[in-house]
Amino acid sequence: MTEHYDLIVLGGGSGGIATANRAARHGAKVALVEKDRLGGACVNVGCVPKKLLWNAGHIRAQAHSGRHYGFTPLLGDFDWSAHKIARDAYIARLNGRYAAGLSDNGVTVIRGAGRLAGPGTVVVDGLAYAAPHIVLATGSRPSLPEIPGAALGLTSDAFFALTERPQRVAVVGAGYIAVELASVLATLGSDVSLVMRGAHLLDAFDPMLREGLMEALVEAGINIMSHRQVAGLQATGAELALSYPDGEGMCGLDAVVWAIGRTPNTADIGLETVSLVPDARGFVGTDAFQNTPVAGLYAIGDMTGRAALTPVAIAAGRRLADRLFGGMADRRLDYDLIPTVVFSHPPIASAGLSEPEARARHGADGVKIYQTRFAPLSEAFNPAPHRTAMKLVTVGRTERIVGVHIIGEGADEMLQGFAVALKMGATKKDFDDTLAIHPTSAEELVTMR
Ligand code: NDP
Repeated sequence: MTEHYDLIVLGGGSGGIATANRAARHGAKVALVEKDRLGGACVNVGCVPKKLLWNAGHIRAQAHSGRHYGFTPLLGDFDWSAHKIARDAYIARLNGRYAAGLSDNGVTVIRGAGRLAGPGTVVVDGLAYAAPHIVLATGSRPSLPEIPGAALGLTSDAFFALTERPQRVAVVGAGYIAVELASVLATLGSDVSLVMRGAHLLDAFDPMLREGLMEALVEAGINIMSHRQVAGLQATGAELALSYPDGEGMCGLDAVVWAIGRTPNTADIGLETVSLVPDARGFVGTDAFQNTPVAGLYAIGDMTGRAALTPVAIAAGRRLADRLFGGMADRRLDYDLIPTVVFSHPPIASAGLSEPEARARHGADGVKIYQTRFAPLSEAFNPAPHRTAMKLVTVGRTERIVGVHIIGEGADEMLQGFAVALKMGATKKDFDDTLAIHPTSAEELVTMR
C-alpha cells in the first residue's frame, strides 16, 4: 500500500532537513528519507567536525603567541583521540537534535535509501510513498581519482574518522577542503605537503587572498608542490608513497588525503524513472526556483552544482518550501553575493566579486580598488607578525561595493555584517560614513583610503 504525503524530501542533510521542517511548519504533511546519520556531510563529515578541529588549531596558535604576551608555554601535546571522542559525542548530540526538531515539526523520517520510482513516487526498502512534490537533496560525496592505488588514500570522510593524528601527510588538491585540512594538520603538528596540479590555491578567489594564503601556508611549514599531478599510490607496510607521471614522487607518508572535489549523489536515485538526465558531471540542473524539468520534482544543494555551501542549500530549501506551501509564489534564493569563509589558518573571508571578475564585468576603468595590509594589534609583540590583508572592490561613479575580501585573524567573524551591507548595495561613502570601532582589525574596512 502506498503512503501519501504532500512533500517527500530525499536526503536528510542540512538542505533536506531545512526544507522538510519549513514545509511542515506551513502545515504540509512531510516525509524525509535518509539512509545515514541525520545532518548530512556538513554535520557529520564536513563543516562541524572541521570547525571543531579548526578551533583546536586556533587555540594552539593563540597559545603559541601567548609567549609574546608574557605567558610561559601554555599547552602540551594535542591529544587527537581525546578530541575525536569529544567531537563524535558533540556530533551525536547534533544528530539527536535534528531528529527531535523533525519530530517536533511532525515530519516523518523514513530510514533507508530512497529512489524515485516514476513521477510523484519514491520507494524505500520496497515500500512506496507518493507526493505531488518531491525535493531531491541527496548531496555529494568526495571524489576519488581514477589512478592505481587511489583507495589507499583517505577521503575527507575517512579523515574525520582518524583516531590518531597522522605525522607525515600529503593532501592532494587546491580547493576548500585541501587548504583547510592541510592547514589544520600543520597547525596541530603534522608534516604536511600540499600537492596541486595547478599553480594556485583556491583558483576562484581574489588573487590577494590566494597569494596571502600561499605565503601563510609556506610560513606554517607546509611543503607546497605545485604543477604536480599524482599518478599512483603504493603502500609498503604502513607507509605510503605517491608518484608523479615523470617517475618522481614522495615516500614515507602516513596518510594521503584526496581533496579533489565532490561528486553529486545522483546515480542511484532513480532519475531514469522520470526521464531526468543529469549533466555530464552528474549534477541535476534547476531553474531559478529550484524546479527540475520534471513537474513536481525539485532539487537543492550540492547535487545541483551551484555553490556547494550548507547555508545555500538551507536557504534554497526554505524558500522552496515557502513557495510551495507558504503561499509565497515568487520566493526563491538569489544566488548573487554569497559570502564564504575558508577555515584555513589564517581564515579567508570573501563576498562578491574578486578584482579580476569585477574588471571583466565592469571594464578596467569602471573598477576602483581599496586595499590594505597591516599587522593587527594582537601581533604587536610578535617580532615576525602575522599580517591581515583586506580589499574592497568598488564599481562606478558611486563606488558601489561589489566585493569584500579579507585574510587574517578574525576574518571569519568579520564578514557576515559586511555581507549585509553589500547585499543592501552599500557604497564606499556608506563605509566611510560608518564610525570605526577602535581598536579592532575590522575598523580598517571603514577607514580605507
Ligand atoms: P573544490 O572544488 O573546492 O576544489 C577541488 C580541487 O581539486 C581544485 O583545486 C582542483 O584543481 C582539484 N582537482 C580536481 N581534480 C583533480 C585531480 N584529478 N587531481 C588533482 N587535483 C584535482 O573541492 P573540495 O573538494 O575542496 O570542496 C568541495 C566543495 O565543498 C567546495 O567547492 C565548497 O563549495 C564546499 N566546501 C566549503 C567549505 C567552506 O565553506 N568552508 C569547506 C569545504 C568544502 P583545479 O583548480 O586545478 O581544478
